[in-house]
Amino acid sequence: MDFAFTPAQEQVRETIIRFAQKHIAPRVREIEETETFPVDLFPKFADVGLMGIRYPEEDGGAGMDKVTDCIVREEMSRVCQSISAAWSAATHIGIWPIWRGGTDYQKERWFSAALRGEAIAAFALSEPDGGSDTRALKTKAEKVPGGWKLNGAKLYITNAPFANFLLLAARTKPELTSDAISLFIVDLPNPGIVIDKLDKEGIRASETGLVHIADAFVPDEALLGGKEGSYHLVMEALAENRVGVSANCLGMARNAYEVALDYAKTRLVRGKPIIEHQAVAHRLADMATDVETMRWMVYHGAWRVDQGTCDMALASKIKLHCSETAVRVTESAIRVLGGAGLMREYPVGRIHRDALVYLMGEGTSEIQRNIISRTLKAE
Ligand SMILES: Cc1cc2nc3c(=O)[nH]c(=O)nc-3n(C[C@H](O)[C@H](O)[C@H](O)COP(=O)(O)OP(=O)(O)OC[C@H]3O[C@@H](n4cnc5c(N)ncnc54)[C@H](O)[C@@H]3O)c2cc1C
Repeated sequence: MDFAFTPAQEQVRETIIRFAQKHIAPRVREIEETETFPVDLFPKFADVGLMGIRYPEEDGGAGMDKVTDCIVREEMSRVCQSISAAWSAATHIGIWPIWRGGTDYQKERWFSAALRGEAIAAFALSEPDGGSDTRALKTKAEKVPGGWKLNGAKLYITNAPFANFLLLAARTKPELTSDAISLFIVDLPNPGIVIDKLDKEGIRASETGLVHIADAFVPDEALLGGKEGSYHLVMEALAENRVGVSANCLGMARNAYEVALDYAKTRLVRGKPIIEHQAVAHRLADMATDVETMRWMVYHGAWRVDQGTCDMALASKIKLHCSETAVRVTESAIRVLGGAGLMREYPVGRIHRDALVYLMGEGTSEIQRNIISRTLKAE
């Protein structure tokens, strides 16, 4: 397959590079140290169409394809993964199911407000007793007059500490089947919901929450699509998002590789730049090759999403490869820098910690292997 980005896609890349240099790069050090997400960025994202990048223009979006979405993710992640992760939760997984399955009222009230940068979404699926086995989730929704009563807990929820609403998965029937799980749009604050902000080692400026839910009432119009059983929309959103977060991994790996390459050209040991020591040059060669494989997988996957031919297994293969490879490349970058690799003066230690997040986020590597291996018998 011949592959080239279109002039329009290249132009978006230039735009996001400029945006990230102006609005993100100068703040990275401070927000990572204070572990605080700069929420004033959301309206700025909206101004340049980034909140609705993947949605059609007739629905208020920017009408961009998945390849362009991945370009944005790659470049934003190259500068700051915390911001890229929070943006992704607010624009993709947190609102995609509303766009796909919401009622007109829900689209106007929550989806459109999210696209304007006025309402920030968090996607609440994982729970303390299981992030991998989502079908067994325990948070319950019980029908009461005029609405639903929610009880349970959600763990590791990106954006939850400052979100305006949660897109929350809850069990509306006791059976362990996927049609027993429904989605609710839950406005925050809610008197039945308390959110603790968690301490993390990676993506520190992306705020992550533990959500306690005790007799939280939501009105009937909070049930996504007005009907029970919307778990299939979660699976659909996850498949597309797994290609997306692979682009995040590509951005981090590129950043670490570029820092290491630059360092290796200028750091002198025994009178010559360390890149002239074959062991260092070979490490950099492996890193360059890893980045190249990631690039091919991400943009092939994105193109397949745009063609409507990216299935769950392909998305899992891409996510598995890119998340594991990003960890390897970012660790290699630390090794190339030696002691400097662990100093905050250089970003590679932070990038490595950030890369570890995608060994878990959007499903662990083991879960990706389970998904892939289930399809092998049929091949
Ligand atoms: C920074 C961060 C942000 C996140 N943001 C969100 C978010 O916004 N919304 C959200 O809903 N979730 C979010 N998550 C949760 C994430 O999706 C889960 O952490 C992930 O799915 C794993 O779940 P768990 O942590 O409960 O691990 P567990 O499910 O307890 O798994 C523990 C270990 O057992 C392995 N394992 C489990 N089941 C199997 C199996 N069947 N076969 C083989 N191995 C298995 C896992 O691979 C893992 O190694 C986030 C996580 C992190 C770290």
